[in-house]
Amino acid sequence: MENAFGSILIISGPSGAGKSSLIEAAKDSIGDFYFSISTTTRPPRKGERNGVDYYFVDKETFEEEIRAGEFLEYAQVHGNYYGTSLKPVRKALEEGKLVIFDIDVQGHAIARERMGDLITSVFVTTPTLKELKRRLESRGTDDEETVQKRIQNAMVEIEYITAYDFLIINDDFEKALDSFIAVAKAARLKKGRKQALRFVNEWRGKSE
Ligand code: 5GP
Repeated sequence: MENAFGSILIISGPSGAGKSSLIEAAKDSIGDFYFSISTTTRPPRKGERNGVDYYFVDKETFEEEIRAGEFLEYAQVHGNYYGTSLKPVRKALEEGKLVIFDIDVQGHAIARERMGDLITSVFVTTPTLKELKRRLESRGTDDEETVQKRIQNAMVEIEYITAYDFLIINDDFEKALDSFIAVAKAARLKKGRKQALRFVNEWRGKSE
């Protein structure tokens, strides 16, 4: 039986570890899911589109949304704000979807506090720091200063691996992809306490 209730998969890891590529490549294998599009004050990179990769806003707009309580979580990463809007996530969960968040370690900690029983989490990294540097430099999408910031951030982020359910070392992409698909399929089956109790009632033939 399909899980009738929504659940959340959080994917984190240093920029350049391959999170977006894994999500993109897994698309056709993990069934229907909703990818949570974050809001950010970071300027778009070449090729990125508003409303597809991120909602790109200025600092004032972001801070207004914080005051309005629109974020499930938000954090400052590499000097910019990034946040997950609550409304579309709630809707997707009510529709029974798997919701995927690509967020940093701070966002993971906050989301766990608020919706921990719905969350499965996976940390994706390169095998070594050296390899991360190589990938960030060869990607060529960021200037030298940004690359340095991302590397500094990665040195701190890596310590948070212990807070995650799963670790994927993205050395061989095909192997990493198989692991990611397995984690996403398991995440779909995770149910929160409220959903489990509702199921028990329905199973016994009572209405809520
Ligand atoms: P990038 O600038 O490379 O797209 O993302 C930088 C970092 O911000 C990544 O680690 C990414 O996971 C994280 N990030 C993206 N969206 C969000 C969000 O909504 N909340 C939080 N806390 N982090 C995010």
